[in-house]
Amino acid sequence: MKTIAPIAAVLVAACTTIAPSAYGQAPAYAGPLFDTHLHYNQEAWDGNTGPYPPAEALARIQRNNVKAIIANSRPNAGTQTLAAARETRAAGVTVVPFVRLYRNRDDYTNWFRDETIYEMVQTELARGTASGPYRGLGEFHLYDSADANGPVAKKLIALAEQRKLAVLAHVDDVAIDLLMANAPSKGQALRLIWAHTGIGGPPVERVQALLERYPLLMGELSYRPGLTCEGGRLCPEWRALILKYPGRFMVGSDTWVNQRWSAYDETMRGYRTWLGDLPADVAQRIAWGNAAALFDLR
Ligand SMILES: [Zn+2]
Repeated sequence: MKTIAPIAAVLVAACTTIAPSAYGQAPAYAGPLFDTHLHYNQEAWDGNTGPYPPAEALARIQRNNVKAIIANSRPNAGTQTLAAARETRAAGVTVVPFVRLYRNRDDYTNWFRDETIYEMVQTELARGTASGPYRGLGEFHLYDSADANGPVAKKLIALAEQRKLAVLAHVDDVAIDLLMANAPSKGQALRLIWAHTGIGGPPVERVQALLERYPLLMGELSYRPGLTCEGGRLCPEWRALILKYPGRFMVGSDTWVNQRWSAYDETMRGYRTWLGDLPADVAQRIAWGNAAALFDLR
């Protein structure tokens, strides 16, 4: 911007900047949460053994008033287990199942070119879960953005758009453009949930440009660098971004290792703290409403 801002605009900007002190003591958000990034991996519970059998996992979910989860797991048996568990129904938790692209650790760095992954996805989609059909693919990772153009990555993105499946992608901002370019709609109709909204911390201006370019791009906020400031409150630039795009952000636990299960209460408490920095209607959307709308939950 090259023009000199009028005094009024400067004053408004100044007030916005000092606002944190005004909302710093805001009460925590107390409503329901939708955990949009939950893994139930083999080391948590393999069907016979592990520290977090369904009763343990569901107890954590339930006591944090998490009413719905995007569930995915390495391998997919974990999601199948959660989707079928009597404890899930008893806890009143809705499972939104995603097909994970990983059978094992080796698949993390090879899925985008491995035809057997494509076959595995087809088999899972045909099979569905006890909580209904799969609603998405992922989480998947791209450690090198260029792998978004791998042959299997391209096929999976096209499949996701055609079947109206969401995609949970742990990728950088460059890969967002590449994945979107591979969608039949060129990104206008692909429901892409950006895990961590860029774990490398691209600037908010870049995040905003991507939100503008792709109407169905959603940002999931676990581990997001720069999101929270002193006392776990929202940093001003992130508060401004969320207020500008209240329909585009969601929260998740990312239980990628068992330590995240043991810290589940703390993670959710952290979300509730900064959600309290937002107007009540916006907090409700980030915590629950945006994801509920995406998957047609009441
Ligand atoms: Zn994850």
